[in-house]
Amino acid sequence: MVFLIILKERLLMRKRIFNIAKLAGITRENNLLRGEALNVLETIDNVYVDIENGMIVEFGPFSATADQGDRGYEYIDAKGATILPCWCDSHTHIVFAASRENEFVDKINGLSYAEIAARGGGIIQSASKIAQATEQVLFDSAMERLEALMRLGTGAIEIKSGYGLDTANELKMLRVIQRIKDAAPIPVKASFLGAHTYPPAYQTNHEGYIQLIINDMLPAIHKENLADYIDVFCEGGFFNYEETVRICEAGKQFGLTPKIHANQLHASGGVEAGIEVGALSVDHLETMTAVNIEALAKSNTIGTMLPTAAFFLRMSYPPAKALMAANAALALASDYNPGSSPGGNMNFVVALACIQMKMLPEAAINAATINGAFAMDLANEVGSIAIGKRANLIFSKPIPSIAYLPYSFSSNLIDKVMINGNFL
Ligand SMILES: [Zn+2]
Repeated sequence: MVFLIILKERLLMRKRIFNIAKLAGITRENNLLRGEALNVLETIDNVYVDIENGMIVEFGPFSATADQGDRGYEYIDAKGATILPCWCDSHTHIVFAASRENEFVDKINGLSYAEIAARGGGIIQSASKIAQATEQVLFDSAMERLEALMRLGTGAIEIKSGYGLDTANELKMLRVIQRIKDAAPIPVKASFLGAHTYPPAYQTNHEGYIQLIINDMLPAIHKENLADYIDVFCEGGFFNYEETVRICEAGKQFGLTPKIHANQLHASGGVEAGIEVGALSVDHLETMTAVNIEALAKSNTIGTMLPTAAFFLRMSYPPAKALMAANAALALASDYNPGSSPGGNMNFVVALACIQMKMLPEAAINAATINGAFAMDLANEVGSIAIGKRANLIFSKPIPSIAYLPYSFSSNLIDKVMINGNFL
């Protein structure tokens, strides 16, 4: 009897989604998109998509008369939806213990970042809360955030440590991310960001903290295989070019690929450091010189832009148009964190990229899907509509065009989200 039930489920395993008005984000070749190529988003109208074992196995033009619905498939009526691949959010800090709206109000009242830091705010505030929180509390709250993000269409995510700032608490954060990897139905990547800032005990001993990262934290992380990437906040007053290169090279010795916080507040040397160490991505890029733009475009490193951070901090946006004109490979991510981007809605990230950075809707969607997948080494699994990729799909409410998504930026246009072939 049990066998028969299993057999029945196997027979019903193939699903056919029909009545899809538009299927967008189809890729025939799985390439990282650079420059003008970002503007091309392949779509097909009136299609079906077949799913088996959570994977896309077939798609093409749908003809209701030819398909009588008697194939033994499970039929899913998309009701005129536009279907896109789920967002691939390649830069987040969703493991944190407390929100920081107190600083948000302080900033409205005119306090500077330095004044807030002097009051014990900023990253140090998040670190003291992490130290007090249990792994279970951190896991539960991060999973709650992840679930909310999935409902907003996120189908793959990178998560950073960096609020631990000592060996025990960095390990605690990375173990939480490991548990999220095991529990979440979407692919999760972990970045070790011990070099986020200097903890109070090392304010006047930067070399001591770098030694702690290299000689203590990295071997411990390696022993438990807790990270995929090494990240450094390369910024004036934080980690400079030489320190960033040193920390990244040490991470590489332990098998971690660099991804760097670069050129957010200053032309910090972060882009140069990222190219030097062969970083997968350099992220932020609010402050870019013409030389930085040329160098990044000529490299194999992806430029990941985080427009909601620039929005929240009232900063100028990354020069997406100039980077595209130079033929750079660009991704978009949320930077979800309690200090400078307290939300991870990728629909808004895409809208801001169009509204404020003048990316075409097609380019912004590509940057937030296929190129985001490349920025997490996940392009074989997610990021586009292609046979063999996971059926992680956004079903929109009926919309007149792709451009309507970022245009109608404050509307929730997601009807349903499918992860591994199942609706959330
Ligand atoms: Zn960040």
